[in-house]
Amino acid sequence: MSTKGVFKVKCPACHEQFDADFWTVVRGDRDQELKEMLISGEFDLLMCPRCSALVAYEETFIYLDPEKELFVFVMPEAYLKEKEKWLEKMRADYDMVKESLLNVRSLCFEPVYFFGAAGLAALLVRDRDIEEETEVMEFIAAEKKFRTAGIRPSFARAHDLPFSLPYSGGSLSKDTALAAVKDIIASNEALLRAQNLLKILRSLETAEIGFIKCNLNL
Ligand SMILES: [Zn+2]
Repeated sequence: MSTKGVFKVKCPACHEQFDADFWTVVRGDRDQELKEMLISGEFDLLMCPRCSALVAYEETFIYLDPEKELFVFVMPEAYLKEKEKWLEKMRADYDMVKESLLNVRSLCFEPVYFFGAAGLAALLVRDRDIEEETEVMEFIAAEKKFRTAGIRPSFARAHDLPFSLPYSGGSLSKDTALAAVKDIIASNEALLRAQNLLKILRSLETAEIGFIKCNLNL
């Protein structure tokens, strides 16, 4: 689950020093409330127990959603001044942290690093947009009796694709995927990410599709 740490914080308004709980690990896949706070920008805000002033406070935290291929280190924005030093430190920590948090030695995706929670918030907002378009596409796919396979989320983000790939018939190949995606676009031209998918499929040089989601076995 998500994990908290306790930090000493000084209120800039009344100068009271207080102990503040701060999430150091956020499980985006299990904790919808924290995910919402990140998206709305409330995550970094604390309330002073003495004067009730809102205090912006940043601490390094990790955001995890392995199914979405998200292992994200979020550092305070101020760390940007020594960007290379901190990136090096986080990269060095990654193997150990990965094992202790997920109990795995390797993952089929790379970690992401942000300075400031706004970068992560923007990613999550965009993911939501992709999810909505994916749902519409899957709805049409189901009506047409197509199956779908998951696309690697990091690949989908990088190429602005839906999170799943529809295909016709019993097995997934370049041809069955192309047939299904063309059919779906013909029904709904507004699915821009499905159009991106069509372009990617057309550019594949082999029948095999290399961007299907891997099984995490977590
Ligand atoms: Zn105060």
